[in-house]
Order: sequence, then C-alpha cells, then structure tokens
Amino acid sequence: MIGSQPVGCDEPPSEQRTVRLSVAALRNAVPGRMWGGKGCGAPCDYCRVLVSSEEIEYEVEARLDGETVMLHFHPRCYDAWRTSRDRRG
Ligand SMILES: [Zn+2]
Repeated sequence: MIGSQPVGCDEPPSEQRTVRLSVAALRNAVPGRMWGGKGCGAPCDYCRVLVSSEEIEYEVEARLDGETVMLHFHPRCYDAWRTSRDRRG
C-alpha cells in the first residue's frame, strides 16, 4: 500500500469520479467554474492521458444531465474541448 499522498492534491476522495465520459457526453457538458493547478495523477478527460504532477491541469466543474461532474484537462485539451463545443450548431 502507498501511504503518502502527493503534495498539492487536495481533492477529497469522495469527489473523485472515475466515470469515463464519451466524446458525446463531453460535448454536452456545460462548463462552470474552473481551477488551474498541478496535475493530481488523474487522466485528462479529453485525451485520456494522465496529467503528470509536473504539468498544469485544469479542473472544470461541469453540468451534465443534471449532475455536476469534475473534469480534468491539459490546458491544450481544455482549449480543444471548448473549441469543439463552440463549433457545433
Ligand atoms: Zn489531455
């Protein structure tokens, strides 16, 4: 067992969601508040690649089907996500 936690990662375990959103679900997610910080070892919801603790991670609180979900993105993936959302319709 690993007993040590990475410094700077204060996300409560109860809020950690392991749901993998489909591309369609991601497009339907409505972005709300967001934070920037160091990666917490969570995978990016856009490219599925882990955001390492040496990289910047954007955490986005999004509404999806009446639920609030936390999304993690690389900065470039956040931009790509917003662009893909804006492009529809
Ligand atoms: Zn990414």
